[in-house]
Amino acid sequence: MDSFHLPYNLIVEEGVFECVNEVMSDCVPEINHKKVILVTEPSLQELFADCLEEIQRDFEKSEVYLVDSGTFDVAVDLAKYVCMNGIGVIIGFGGGKVLDIAKYAAFVSKTLYLCLPTTLSNDSIASPVAVLGTKGDLRQTFGCKIPSGIIVDIDVIMKAPAVQLKSGIGDTISKYTALYDWRLDARHYGKTINDFAYMISDMALTSLCYHEEKSLKSKSFIKVLAQALVMGGLAMEISGSSRPSSGSEHLFCHSLEENYKEIKITHGIAVAMGSIPAAIFQDRQHIWKLVNLMKAHQIDVNPQSYGITKEIFIGAWQKAPATRKDRYTILNETDLSEKRLGEIYDNMVSGEFV
Ligand SMILES: [Zn+2]
Repeated sequence: MDSFHLPYNLIVEEGVFECVNEVMSDCVPEINHKKVILVTEPSLQELFADCLEEIQRDFEKSEVYLVDSGTFDVAVDLAKYVCMNGIGVIIGFGGGKVLDIAKYAAFVSKTLYLCLPTTLSNDSIASPVAVLGTKGDLRQTFGCKIPSGIIVDIDVIMKAPAVQLKSGIGDTISKYTALYDWRLDARHYGKTINDFAYMISDMALTSLCYHEEKSLKSKSFIKVLAQALVMGGLAMEISGSSRPSSGSEHLFCHSLEENYKEIKITHGIAVAMGSIPAAIFQDRQHIWKLVNLMKAHQIDVNPQSYGITKEIFIGAWQKAPATRKDRYTILNETDLSEKRLGEIYDNMVSGEFV
């Protein structure tokens, strides 16, 4: 079995940002002798001024480093700054953009990395990859290390915009079709899949699906969502692949991003919406249950709500397999004709599922 790393700390609690140093130094005592850099973005520095000041006070030798875009160059600049100034700990404080920059810079500079998310929009919190801007609108996925510590403060997440949290829910629901495609890929190539990673990813999905509370105002639900996203990232680390979290529904999302840049939709909502046709292609039973689950979380599955016309929908699915040619998914065994995709689109618009 390939080796994998797990974080020293994995805490999802209320008010835990008030004692970051305390919880980390229990596991990594040397943290107090290292210089710390707190990476965030200007809008969050303003919004969470008190919280950031408290974390800074907690770590004696610390400074704040502001980033304004999520590009590869910004991450490399940060890594350079960290190396040249003898910094031993990078704390990422923010959403996906900030966290991916901090994660990649920590990987390049071989520095301890603590992840402090302020929102839960996808499972990249704990994953071993960073998605960074390269040229123009293009974004690329780069391999890196998972965080040494993941600390989620429920009180902070409760203040995150609903659209971002719904995206996190969508990214978790999409494991329903991703896991099926992972098995299909293994069968096709005659490989074995990592059962432990499969189980963790499946648990992330079921814990969210069967949790009684569905409201974003419920602390117990936010805790389950945070844990599910962290488990999703760890499943990728354990399997050494993104397959436990990414199947044909993610190829649909990549295809939208690459071919239809005019469509503005979050990653998690796009993959959740993609999981409905993917489940139909996979011949899964009771598609309405999947649709109802999304409705329970107020995730709109009508493509028109996001400006996705029938033409774009058909084009995005037909171009989806080409976005990751090495991946075997249900799309390799599916009739992606205009007629069939058009019918599925009509059902998604009218909301009729069996
Ligand atoms: Zn995803």
